[in-house]
Amino acid sequence: MSLARHWRLQNQRYRLMGMRCEDCGARMIGRRFVCTRCKSRELQPCYLKGQGAVYSYTVVYDAPSGYEGMVPYPAALVRLDEGPLVAAQLTDVDIEEVYVGMPVEMVTRRLREYGEDGLIVYGYKFRPRLKDQL
Ligand SMILES: [Zn+2]
Repeated sequence: MSLARHWRLQNQRYRLMGMRCEDCGARMIGRRFVCTRCKSRELQPCYLKGQGAVYSYTVVYDAPSGYEGMVPYPAALVRLDEGPLVAAQLTDVDIEEVYVGMPVEMVTRRLREYGEDGLIVYGYKFRPRLKDQL
């Protein structure tokens, strides 16, 4: 498989899945059956682009088990371009550089590691958007 194709598949696998309301157009994260805005049940699966801006953030010093090696790290609520808020860790940024309104994008990162035999969990985080993508 070519590297380009590999990356395309990778990208697809970790795209943010959401639902779109047929009645009011609201978008939500994850799998849902009822629109959080208008209570409609006419929801269709959709992809979210994974781009947004920091809505609020905090610095985590007291991490849950499995995340101890990462403290302190910034965790944020990100307002996606499509509307929903998502809670995620920020990466590739110094804590002092984070600000409300900072443009960010979703990336796939190692989230945690289990023991020495190393079952590693990957998931999404957000990093500052590169300038040429703004
Ligand atoms: Zn709706």
